[in-house]
Amino acid sequence: MEDLNPFNIARRQLDKAAEIMNLEKGAYEILKEPMETIIVNIPVKMHDGSIKVFQGFRVHYNTARGPGKGGIRYHPQESLDTVKALAAWMTWKTSLADLPLGGAKGGIICDPKSMTNEELETLSRGYIRAIRSFIGPKIDIPAPDVYTNPQIMAWMYDEYSKLVGYNEPAVITGKPVEANGSEGRYDSTALGGMYILEESAKLIGINLKGAKVAIQGFGNAGSFAFKLATSLGAKVVAVSDSKGGIYNEEGLDFEKLNETKSQKGSVVDYEKGEKITNEQLLESDVDVLIPAALENQITTENADKIKAKLVLELANGPTTPEADEILFEKGVLTMPDFLVNSGGVIVSYFEWVQNLSGTHWSEEEVYNKLKEVMLRSYKSMIDTQNTYKEKGIKITPRTAAYIVAVDRVAKAMKARGWY
Ligand code: NAD
Repeated sequence: MEDLNPFNIARRQLDKAAEIMNLEKGAYEILKEPMETIIVNIPVKMHDGSIKVFQGFRVHYNTARGPGKGGIRYHPQESLDTVKALAAWMTWKTSLADLPLGGAKGGIICDPKSMTNEELETLSRGYIRAIRSFIGPKIDIPAPDVYTNPQIMAWMYDEYSKLVGYNEPAVITGKPVEANGSEGRYDSTALGGMYILEESAKLIGINLKGAKVAIQGFGNAGSFAFKLATSLGAKVVAVSDSKGGIYNEEGLDFEKLNETKSQKGSVVDYEKGEKITNEQLLESDVDVLIPAALENQITTENADKIKAKLVLELANGPTTPEADEILFEKGVLTMPDFLVNSGGVIVSYFEWVQNLSGTHWSEEEVYNKLKEVMLRSYKSMIDTQNTYKEKGIKITPRTAAYIVAVDRVAKAMKARGWY
């Protein structure tokens, strides 16, 4: 039976890279577990007068290269092991992008869709009070993730500022632009992913003009990916959310889908298409598959049935290690999550820099800098893959990206005398 525990998966990915790169034992011992973890219980007075206690987590995976950085996820199935895995992936993500940051992540077990705005605000402020000494502009800087958004970041920024007694926008990123957020943050994850889409399409000869694309997830990452892929000439034929998916061989209309999602709550109510399941979406006959929802979507159960030539992992952890191998053997190019979706943390880093220096960059400046970092990361991954190939060692793009990222973190730890 395949082990789908996200932290075990993150560990197995690290183990594989560590073996190939011959990572020093001291570095491996530090990197196989997070440095610090906090578990908090947050009481919230609900709208019916009852008190509900929500459990939350924050994990500092590694801070050798700088303060922790990583989003906060609200999800009914949130778990400490998921947060630990996501914090590990953040460590590799900031390192691959060569940002002066470490890796962290947070989460709360809750169902935001069934909560009122007031309950969400109380919960978000309570979480910040609970983890107050664990975060800070030079300690750990949170950001949005699944089912959290700029409004929630603004409440958190406000609560932290009240607690410390001064205005501290640099404590959190992904804030609304009008509350010290950065231009270009809202679509940065998808935009960064599109630069990788263009590079990888070139690599394997996919012509994006008219290329068929399927996107799983229609949230922040997935919906902007839809819009941007269309602007590159691709035809998005399938899209889904937690309630199911929709397919139309002629292509789906972004504006109409967006309208359907905001009016009816799901893309499945879009009229001009055939209803499909999330499983069918993953196996649809397309050139490019973009998972942009949750972990463990491509597993040994369906990897063999994937028809796409390119899997662009906009979500974190959508492919299990076993499925990764199956895709590699089949000749499907899988671009790894911590490269593809790093645009979010890169612009978050820009937001932090702007907040610390009291400046505000234009959207053009943000996009130009984002492109530069994305292409630099991509190149370091491909160069590493080629270096190993020349030595007769065939490795996946993911393992190559791991080698670049882990090596940088290990060198920082060594220089600081951690091992
Ligand atoms: P979001 O909350 O905006 O959207 C999540 C989407 O996934 C929603 O459309 C939801 O309906 C859908 N979904 C949930 N469960 C599903 C299921 N079982 N099957 C299909 N769809 C399902 O979240 P987001 O910010 O877009 O994040 C999506 C992924 O991208 C996550 O893996 C997240 O960690 C990753 N990511 C996001 C960012 C960012 O800046 N937002 C940055 C890096 C990585």
